[in-house]
Amino acid sequence: MKTFCGRANPTTGTMEWLEEDENYDYHQEIARSRYADMLHDKDRNVKYYQGIRAAVSRVKQRGEKAIVLDIGTGTGLLSMMAASAGADFCYAIEVFKPMANAAVKIVEKNGFRDKIKVINKHSTEVTVGPDGDMQCRANILVTELFDTELIGEGALPTYEHAHKYLVQEGCEAVPHRATVYVQLVESKRMWSWNKLFPVHVEAEDGEKIIVSPSEMENCPGVPSVCDIQLNQMPSCDFTILSDVVTMFSVDFSKPVRSASTSYRVQLEPVKSGKAQIVLSWWDIDMDPSGMINCTMAPYWVKSTSAFQWRDHWMQCVYFLPNEEPVLQGEKVYLTACRDEYSVWYALQKARAEEENKAAVRVESPVCRCQAHLLWNRPRFGQLNDQNRTRQYIKSLMKVLKTDSVCLCISDGSLLPVLAHYLGAEQVQCFFLFFLSLRFSLVFLFFKANNLEDKIKIIEARPELLTSSHLEDKKISVLVGEPFFTTSLLPWHNLYFWYARTAVTSHLTSNVTVLPQSASLHMMIVEFQDLWRIRSPCGTCEGFDVQTMDDMIKNSLNFRESKEAEPHPLWEYPCKSLSDPQEVLTFDFRKTVPQHSLSTEGSVNLLRKGKSHGAVLWMEYHLAADISVSTGLLQISNEKGNCEWNPHCKQAVYFFSSVIESETLSDIPSAVTYAINFNTKTGDIAMDFKL
Ligand code: SAH
Repeated sequence: MKTFCGRANPTTGTMEWLEEDENYDYHQEIARSRYADMLHDKDRNVKYYQGIRAAVSRVKQRGEKAIVLDIGTGTGLLSMMAASAGADFCYAIEVFKPMANAAVKIVEKNGFRDKIKVINKHSTEVTVGPDGDMQCRANILVTELFDTELIGEGALPTYEHAHKYLVQEGCEAVPHRATVYVQLVESKRMWSWNKLFPVHVEAEDGEKIIVSPSEMENCPGVPSVCDIQLNQMPSCDFTILSDVVTMFSVDFSKPVRSASTSYRVQLEPVKSGKAQIVLSWWDIDMDPSGMINCTMAPYWVKSTSAFQWRDHWMQCVYFLPNEEPVLQGEKVYLTACRDEYSVWYALQKARAEEENKAAVRVESPVCRCQAHLLWNRPRFGQLNDQNRTRQYIKSLMKVLKTDSVCLCISDGSLLPVLAHYLGAEQVQCFFLFFLSLRFSLVFLFFKANNLEDKIKIIEARPELLTSSHLEDKKISVLVGEPFFTTSLLPWHNLYFWYARTAVTSHLTSNVTVLPQSASLHMMIVEFQDLWRIRSPCGTCEGFDVQTMDDMIKNSLNFRESKEAEPHPLWEYPCKSLSDPQEVLTFDFRKTVPQHSLSTEGSVNLLRKGKSHGAVLWMEYHLAADISVSTGLLQISNEKGNCEWNPHCKQAVYFFSSVIESETLSDIPSAVTYAINFNTKTGDIAMDFKL
């Protein structure tokens, strides 16, 4: 069955009605899912297997039959482990239908049809009794329902229900317990993902400081977890203010309560500084003794973790509501609050605490300033990137004249403010907006800087811009970062070009456009680890999971042409195998052409290594000799290690050799490519041959 789905095209800005296969969401879910990554996570798999074996043997030693409940069976892996370990029967519950179907096939293929019953239901719908899904309650509870924040995928309510209705009292649980750890740090880098720092502008009439509105200063932000590969954060980017402490733990073998609660620990700062960030991770003990432990601890806590790569579980960065000075040795209290699905933190000074002995009730963070709704964390980082701001200031100074009439097209940008100050406050500035959410944020922002009468905010789509919006003036300088919140892939910000085309009739004949052009760059890379997320598994701990591999491959091919996917490469080390190459240019001084832009060529491979894929990014040429890169910043050494713009996601196109896991018979010396930018649809199609 086909259905029509409306969506705004991120590049062209037009509304499109796409005929979507009803399976579209399924395929997206599977193709982009973390199943492959989990199956590749050897450390996790080995420890689950050990824990399951130990639990089965404890039950057998008691002379009982081992009846397993595996909630969220996915491929059926943990149930197959239990059956191999001697479990008498397993109930494997999986809510996601395509996965439940795959589990049935995989279980059958591995010869466990008589031992494992796959039930395609949410665990809270499962019935127990002679006519129920389960004949009786289980005495071993096995699950893997954890995300980076531990509870974000609903583990707590699922456990709470399972203990009430699906397992026996005193059951064994694998994992047996989870523990959440925290460490207080100061980090300008991480803090810059949550607050907007003042921007200093050297204008002709003295230094100007752009400040953020008080609503933004005091805003607690959003509750969504900030999960990152903390092992990629160099130690010079943060200062440790406390030891690692246990925040809370959950015993999965006993009844679990999911209702909102809070936990408090006392911390004695090991250093004076500004408490800004709580870093957090967890570990799971697979058995009661704690001998089988699987930990997400970062490299400075456990030196071997740098080699233990996984993407389905990372580490969390929590922003305290406000930065709080702490003194070495002067105790503070850290409170973790949680509801069923998320955790947030607050810090109290010990003295204030004594005065107010009543339990601290900290509300879940709700963004009041709208900035945290409009800008994600990398965008905050980008706006706080002084080096980047300097490039824009230099370029604006080159292009602005005192009689300039300036129009800015970008989402929630500081460019109009910069233009206003740099143009000696003579420049007439307009700012084009599309959504009221953005409108009110920008208004607050201009107001905080006393600019609400100086910069006119226009709330209209570019194609609906009229001369009266512009007070019958023609635009002599058109600026954009460009940045749009709807962009996922680097070239989606080419929407600026489409907007520029739409407002052409309002531009002077010799208009200056900043950036004047953009170029798409490409480089062939070998990833240290990221290739795993798309690579088939074959067998996992001796179980044949090829059905899953085929399913993922089928979903990746669902769209016929494979697509590039966005990844923040500062978190995923890779080495360059070729020189970076400019492949397409987009001239913003002209309108978007009717015809497609395409290119073909080949790149030589300069270093030995596995060509896992191509990385693509955009560079913006702001003005003569001034460019900013949203991708490669530099190749740092002769080994080819790369440094990427930390505030942008780059596009990664995995080669079929990764997806098919084929070993190439001979090492290629060059990669040929064909890249086509369809100006009508805004899509970039690409093809590579090794
Ligand atoms: N157990 C597998 C897969 C883990 S992924 C492994 O370890 O490799 C978690 C799976 O649990 C997902 O497939 C998700 O769809 C499923 N799931 C999550 N909560 C569930 C619930 N309450 N009932 C049934 N399935 C659930």
